Amino acid sequence: MLDSNKKSDAQSVFLSGNDLVAQCLKRYGIDIIYGLVGIPVTQLARSAQENGIRFIGMHNEQAASMAAGAYGFMQKKPGICLTVAAPGFINALSGLANATINCFPMVLISGSSSIEMADLNQIDYQGFDQLNAAKPFAKAVYRIDSIDKIEIGIARAMKTAISGRPGGVYLDIPAKVLHQTIESKLCRLDGINEITPNDNIIATVEDKLLSAFELLQKAKRPLIIIGKGAAYSRAEVELLNFVTKNNIPFLNMSMAKGVISDNHDLCVNAARAMALSNADLIFLIGARLNWLLANGEHPPFAKEYKLIQMDICVEEMDAYRKVDVDLIGDIKTVLTQLNNMNDSIPAPKEWLAQLSNQKNTNEEKLKAKMLDKTPMDFNCAFRIIRDEMAKIPDSYFCTEGANTLDFGRVIVPMTKPRRRLDPGTWGTMGVGLSYAIAAATISNAPVLAVEGDAAFGFSAMELETICRYNLRVIIIIFNNGGIYKGDAVNTYSQDPDPTRFENNIPYEKLMETFGAKGFKATTPQELQSYLAQALAAKEPVLINCMIDPKAGTESGHLSKMN
Ligand code: ADP
Repeated sequence: MLDSNKKSDAQSVFLSGNDLVAQCLKRYGIDIIYGLVGIPVTQLARSAQENGIRFIGMHNEQAASMAAGAYGFMQKKPGICLTVAAPGFINALSGLANATINCFPMVLISGSSSIEMADLNQIDYQGFDQLNAAKPFAKAVYRIDSIDKIEIGIARAMKTAISGRPGGVYLDIPAKVLHQTIESKLCRLDGINEITPNDNIIATVEDKLLSAFELLQKAKRPLIIIGKGAAYSRAEVELLNFVTKNNIPFLNMSMAKGVISDNHDLCVNAARAMALSNADLIFLIGARLNWLLANGEHPPFAKEYKLIQMDICVEEMDAYRKVDVDLIGDIKTVLTQLNNMNDSIPAPKEWLAQLSNQKNTNEEKLKAKMLDKTPMDFNCAFRIIRDEMAKIPDSYFCTEGANTLDFGRVIVPMTKPRRRLDPGTWGTMGVGLSYAIAAATISNAPVLAVEGDAAFGFSAMELETICRYNLRVIIIIFNNGGIYKGDAVNTYSQDPDPTRFENNIPYEKLMETFGAKGFKATTPQELQSYLAQALAAKEPVLINCMIDPKAGTESGHLSKMN
């Protein structure tokens, strides 16, 4: 449908603000927008479609904003979320903050009401000072106050989201600007540079590279920790070359799984505790020493160790403890520099043998825990998922829920980069279906969303989105009837325990309501059979996977914190 504001006469063509925003996004290579329409952005979504951009309409801005962040991580360009003013905008702030904290490039575009009225604290239809409200959640915020600033405003937002350390950017576009018109010859679409991502522009200095090699050569027990910054920078080839040339064992953070295959001999995830506690040199590549790595403290790290850190962000250096060599720059670029040096280190044979033994012992122990049982527990269910997924290595694996996340990380190996999406830096629950939607809109490969039943509930209505767009998503709900577990009895009041849900919710019926297939799996054999069918189906499928309510632990691996 054409924008009613678009007019033309013999001499000139006029574009509306809606047209211009859509054209600018298209010019920056945006092919998908996630959002939820209403006053004043409905026509903007249509203008996007008219310009060949897919609009994925969702049920809640929170879910849409999470999807946009995941798109940014996987595509290395800003994910766009579009929302209405005040209430819709506020719903999307959680996704904006989630993108910023995880270093995902994302732009939240919200329509807004009268700024003049908001400034006088007068109540307008969905009036709110959105620009200031977004500041704590975003890397930067911008407002476009007239149609002739649209191109520059979008350029600012896109470039900020993607440059340096990526993050979430808020772009405020008042309704009046969307409805203004401008003569097309006054638009400067050709006057704005392309967005240049970080690759090949940010390299580190040679002295630092030499110092890093010096430390690596002295180390007896070096260990690389790969973080999602390496996945984002698409450094898989450079990293594999570096690791294999120098025989350095590595661990990966959860969203970096698959940057180098988890099945690689040098991957020591299965001997994580031994690797961390004995390493005398830690080489962090695109990972922060935040709570997920115990802030670099002993334990789990050794009392003393040297630290090399590679990151694009200067202020990340020394953020938790002294960094001995800082390699500041784009990971792909700096690894290329390191690989081009003629230096290499001797293989730490003793260290590798020690880790390999521990790996074998731990893997044997895990095998024994994963045997078939009915009712299923997390170990058994994930073993089945692992084996079926291995038949299609391109599959995406989105997972959330405390125990679901923890067991899945240990049991399901990833062999390709950027295929595992999870609650990330904050442990944000409720992201799973959004991330699955993002993955299924950028790829034809199957997407598995393995959801704890509590995590699933955050955005259960997005099942309808998955069905409406016929996305190849397989939702597996680990149904144990509660948050963490499903067997808690309330000793404090007549009400159910705060962790409890109804047992036995027939989630498969919900899927059938939306016209897609739903199954209930109560045995390992049923789970295997339904999953095999679902992987072959190339359409949405839900498997309600019944898990023993007693399985798992409260707060998963973080029980000490709750
Ligand atoms: P994880 O959760 O996997 O440990 P983090 O999110 O803590 O990873 O860390 C990712 C790091 O990667 C951030 O410090 C970020 O600045 C960095 N980063 C992101 N993109 C690049 C890039 N292209 N080059 C170098 N570092 C990057």
